[in-house]
Amino acid sequence: MKEKKFFISSSIPYVNAEPHLGHAQEFIEADIIARYRRLMDDTVFFLSGTDDNAQKNVQAAESAGIPVADYVNKHAKEFIDLEKRLNISNDYFIQTSVDPRHRDGAQKLWRACKPEDIYKKSYKGMYCLGCEEFKTEADLVNGECPEHPGKKLEEVEEENYFFKLSNYQSKLKNLVESDELQIIPQTRKNEVLSFINSGLEDFSISRSVARTKGWGIPVPDDETQTMYVWFDALSNYITALGYSDDGADYEKFWKESNERVHVIGKGISRFHTIYWPAMLLSTGVRLPSKVFVHGYITVGGQKMSKTIGNVIDPNVVIDEYGADAFRYYMARHISPFDDGDFTMEKFKEVYNANLANGLGNLSARIMKMAQDNLDEPVKVDNYGYTFQDGYIDESLSEYKINMAMEYIWSKIGDLDREITEKRPFSLLKESPETAKEIIVNLVLNLYRVGCMLQPFLPETADLIINATRINKKPENLFPRKD
Ligand SMILES: [Zn+2]
Repeated sequence: MKEKKFFISSSIPYVNAEPHLGHAQEFIEADIIARYRRLMDDTVFFLSGTDDNAQKNVQAAESAGIPVADYVNKHAKEFIDLEKRLNISNDYFIQTSVDPRHRDGAQKLWRACKPEDIYKKSYKGMYCLGCEEFKTEADLVNGECPEHPGKKLEEVEEENYFFKLSNYQSKLKNLVESDELQIIPQTRKNEVLSFINSGLEDFSISRSVARTKGWGIPVPDDETQTMYVWFDALSNYITALGYSDDGADYEKFWKESNERVHVIGKGISRFHTIYWPAMLLSTGVRLPSKVFVHGYITVGGQKMSKTIGNVIDPNVVIDEYGADAFRYYMARHISPFDDGDFTMEKFKEVYNANLANGLGNLSARIMKMAQDNLDEPVKVDNYGYTFQDGYIDESLSEYKINMAMEYIWSKIGDLDREITEKRPFSLLKESPETAKEIIVNLVLNLYRVGCMLQPFLPETADLIINATRINKKPENLFPRKD
């Protein structure tokens, strides 16, 4: 098979608050795909990072009473630490206020836009600081931003640069309709198409330096203007690869890659499927090939919010249950496409049922029988490293991460049933050869489960695979929680 070059990114979160469940979900989803593609022998570049240049970071730093740079660095570190704790296998982490290639690259991208696509005009509108976006009447529900209810919109009047999005309406429509720019799932694709069909308005791509207080990337050749944070943020996907000086990674993973995938939340779909592709069309830079849009996580059926006080820190869950248990929940019990719900009660329930009493117990039972009755480790095939499972392949190529997990758990269920039905332990005295055969087969299938789990629960997968290699019962994979 010819080697494929595969680029995947998570979105870059604002650093005006601590990482929450939704960030963790996105990192895990992107990580599962990245790990899977590496197992498929693709050459992968997995990018993650933080969006430091937003105005709301400036505001948050001001109210915290510390310099903006210190503020964003402190919070960026929380994201870096969370990714480490979750075993996220990103190849690079871009901090947009720190990486000099980002500033150069964003300015290069601005200059590369066709001159007729950028113009200056005076504008008055309602700005949602939460979204970092001007809102039209059609966007609002009861006069409020639906993403940020209860937060006042700011009336802003100033002279800004605008991007002529209307120039790209029919091109964008064709790209999305034909799946040349594929939007997953279909429901999000439909939303984007109906938004395009409703008519695209030009959007502002700069702010006055007075309003941004000088934080952000200066517009080339105009010291009165700072780049609009979205123009700056979206460019991270190529600046991190070295777009500014045509670096080797940019050549390999963008210009010549087979796939370029963005993993994002539904709230920022418009930016990634309309604004970003239009900017790239203007500059002649290649487009992403796929945008995978996930839903939001509610807690006990409610939107997470500081006011309600239901925000769950992923670190607290990892402290008690470990990274793989958390990855398990996100991969299997949160829909990759629709909104999903999280509560500690539900988490504990499925943890005990499917990890402690499920996978953990099964691995211990099989390997205990093997350790006690087999003279040497079972010779395994090369199943996991060529990863020839059609169902998992199909599910993950459609980003149906939860379907792949259901399938693996059906295999785990099969193994449980096999033990119950064939009762190898009761055959050991009468027909030891038959009992051993059954045990060997159980170990082989457990090994296969371990291989299949590699992209999803990497640590557990390694422990299971290793246990079959050394013929030893793994200790305490998932201790029961009372
Ligand atoms: Zn908003």
